[in-house]
Amino acid sequence: MIFFNSADLMEEIEALVHRHPNKLSIETMESENKGYEAQVAVVTYCRDRKEDDKSMFRILLTFGQHGRELITSELALRILSILSEEEFLPKLDRKSMNSTLDKLVIKVVPMENLNGRKRVEAGDLCERRNGRGVDLNRNWSVDWGKKEKDYDPYEKNPGTAPFSEPESQIMRKLALSFEPHLWVNVHSGMQALFMPYDHRNTTPDGSSSVKMKKMVNDLNYRHFQGHCMTGSGGGSVGYLAHGTATDYIYDVAKVPMAFTFEIYGDESAPAKDCFRMFNPTNLTTFKAVLNDWSAAFFTLFKFGPQLLGLANSEESAKWVSIDDYLDGYLMSRRNRYGKEMEVFELGLQEIRSYFRLFMLSCIILMFMFCTRISKSKLQRPNAPVLPT
Ligand SMILES: [Zn+2]
Repeated sequence: MIFFNSADLMEEIEALVHRHPNKLSIETMESENKGYEAQVAVVTYCRDRKEDDKSMFRILLTFGQHGRELITSELALRILSILSEEEFLPKLDRKSMNSTLDKLVIKVVPMENLNGRKRVEAGDLCERRNGRGVDLNRNWSVDWGKKEKDYDPYEKNPGTAPFSEPESQIMRKLALSFEPHLWVNVHSGMQALFMPYDHRNTTPDGSSSVKMKKMVNDLNYRHFQGHCMTGSGGGSVGYLAHGTATDYIYDVAKVPMAFTFEIYGDESAPAKDCFRMFNPTNLTTFKAVLNDWSAAFFTLFKFGPQLLGLANSEESAKWVSIDDYLDGYLMSRRNRYGKEMEVFELGLQEIRSYFRLFMLSCIILMFMFCTRISKSKLQRPNAPVLPT
């Protein structure tokens, strides 16, 4: 078995924290509703433990919100191991990374839905909900309780009210008190880098939306050869989701960068084989998923703060390009016209190509014009000046 069970995984994480008291700490948050209790462990990474400093860039990552998505919690352990310098990324320049990490506080929730995870470990491999059958990613207050035509109560039960579930209460409390700049809710079932919204098939207006789009596109091409699905969760996944964590975190908690990453999925797996649908089943794929995604997360740690303009670095200059300028321009046009469609994205590539061609023709024309002028000047040095 390549996966840890929940108890062993949490034990590994606790041992890691205790080996690195100058970088890591752990706390357990608890809540209860009508006799149903939940505990959520939160690991804080902060070099030299300066975490009270409000000038730091704050990142909140949560894993294992759905019980059956075991691979996500393994990624949490991997990221913490790299942060504590017990494991290394092959192409990571540690010195430059450490200067980035000096400015960050990262809170990691390795297993948000421990009770649901225990159900999976007891043999119910298709269980995604919490210990009493509520989908924790439908229990938040933005557009809560709205049901689509394909609503499946087994999969998507939103609970009796927004934040009826102790796990969601804990996560909301954590997000509102920590006030992160960057949030990632990590899932599996497909390969995707989603941004808000989940409850609409559009992305939000405004500059932080442009930055999020830029970030996911960069991650997609840098780490996944463009294979990940990107865009708004609701616009890309094929169904709208109501009451999700990321929509709340973006819309209500006002976190400027809020993502949902889907790190692995086997769409060829039979519908009943949930383990295979959501988790890699051989060691090679297991390692590849953890390597690729931990590298992507460290890219996010490095460029997220720069994109938001909250860290000064010479490398931030790299982010300005014609493509970026056009993205911004098209985005503001799109906002003005109101009726956004994800289909609009398809036009981007063509417009970029035409724009490049146009610029190139201008340069060639200018060049020809200049050489003609200088030639004619050389040939007729004493030509009489004509009245204009
Ligand atoms: Zn999920």
